[in-house]
Amino acid sequence: MITFLSGGTGTPKLLRGMQKVMDRHEISVVVNTAEDIWISGNHISPDLDTVMYLFAGVLNTDTWWGIRNDTFITHDEIAQMGLEEFIAIGDRDRAVHIARGNMLRDGMRLTNITKNLCDRFGVRENVLPMSDTEVTTRVKTELGLIHYQEYWVRSKGQIQIESVVRCSTTPPESTEEVIQAVEASDVVVIGPSNPITSITPILECRGLKDALRDKFVIAISPFIGDAPVSGPAAALMKASGFEATSAGTAACYKDLVDLFIHDIRDPIEVKNAIRLDTLMTGEEKSIELAGSILSLANKR
Ligand code: GDP
Repeated sequence: MITFLSGGTGTPKLLRGMQKVMDRHEISVVVNTAEDIWISGNHISPDLDTVMYLFAGVLNTDTWWGIRNDTFITHDEIAQMGLEEFIAIGDRDRAVHIARGNMLRDGMRLTNITKNLCDRFGVRENVLPMSDTEVTTRVKTELGLIHYQEYWVRSKGQIQIESVVRCSTTPPESTEEVIQAVEASDVVVIGPSNPITSITPILECRGLKDALRDKFVIAISPFIGDAPVSGPAAALMKASGFEATSAGTAACYKDLVDLFIHDIRDPIEVKNAIRLDTLMTGEEKSIELAGSILSLANKR
């Protein structure tokens, strides 16, 4: 068994390859939920949705969000009424958000809701939210303290971030299921996700770091040089006091990681790291990288 820590783009690209090179029942994924948001009364969990849709074979892999060939009839109708939905939500995607919202309002745990939805989609992998309680990444900007989605989707990442703040009413805890998955794993992989908005929220859940202590942890950098492969990771790293590079990523995961992997093209040197072609420009490249990571994991 391998457990992956995942956000909603870089690590899912790796998981796309992993599901082709290993037994799918041997994959557990602990998914960031600090980007979750309620929109139009429904519960969007962007990273859980991406991972679930990927494993269900319905993900739109052009965008890495939403369901392939989904329609946007409801979203467009709502806009016609002058009501803003700043995130484009497809109709089938919305059905999942409605179902999740209703189950949350009924008092179900997010872990059980995720299992229920994954079963309906025929997902064979073990997909786990990082926690059952709500935690939100907000960023401090000239507009005040705003939800990360408002920064990245509504403002298209065009405003300065002063700092990153995690907000919750109760400190988030890892679930029993997450700890069991880690304990049952030979290796834990921190995928090439945004260190600040995707991975750190998972690591901050009480119990997880302790569970990782005895595990062989592999991390893959989302940076090549001083830029991430995609997305706003550089601004978030700087606002959190880290260099926006692979070296900064390694510093962010300090003391947790046994093997750090970064790209063969990366001009930055990271001590004791190894290099692979980590640029997953298509499914074949994802499978290739997954195969290399699996053989490193199997050498443990
Ligand atoms: P989010 O939840 O949508 O922000 O997605 P993640 O946090 O899972 O992934 C975002 C990170 O993935 C970005 O920092 C990218 O640099 C990284 N990323 C995307 N594609 C690739 C790739 O092909 N290779 C590597 N190494 N990183 C990637």
